[in-house]
Amino acid sequence: MITRRGYKKCRTLVDGLALPRPFSVSALVEMLAEQRQRPIDIGTLPAGLTVNACGAWLHLADRDVIFVEAKTSPYHRDHIVLHEIGHMLCDHRSKADDIVADLGRFLPDLSPALVRRLLARTSYSTDEEQEAELVASLIRITAQAQAPGGSTGALSELEAALGLWSR
Ligand SMILES: [Zn+2]
Repeated sequence: MITRRGYKKCRTLVDGLALPRPFSVSALVEMLAEQRQRPIDIGTLPAGLTVNACGAWLHLADRDVIFVEAKTSPYHRDHIVLHEIGHMLCDHRSKADDIVADLGRFLPDLSPALVRRLLARTSYSTDEEQEAELVASLIRITAQAQAPGGSTGALSELEAALGLWSR
């Protein structure tokens, strides 16, 4: 369960983003790349890759790369990208050298030396996964609330669902 402090951290991160209007995940990716002054590439995970994840974020020296599953719906694909953006915004770091080596086999262009950090679902703590997932949800809800005719009802519902105000 996410803590109130964890929730606040994620809310602050998402509130600090000037989400593109109209909102789209690709517009958000472009905006973040500009803010971070680093390109963000969206790639497809090679079939057969043994990373036990549907997405991964690579923090390279000169850019970020978000990998998504090849076979997935556009909605799920967007969600994976938002989830990985969550890890990126929360600055989750982990050592996943074995996964980096594995990825290097499939992606000869990205040598393990070039790959500074690979963050895959399996290499995060439960808290970090929850934070990334929460950031993804908050971005969606905030974007919906900002759209014409949007309301903040979904945010209250999320907070209630998380049980934040009863503890
Ligand atoms: Zn994750």
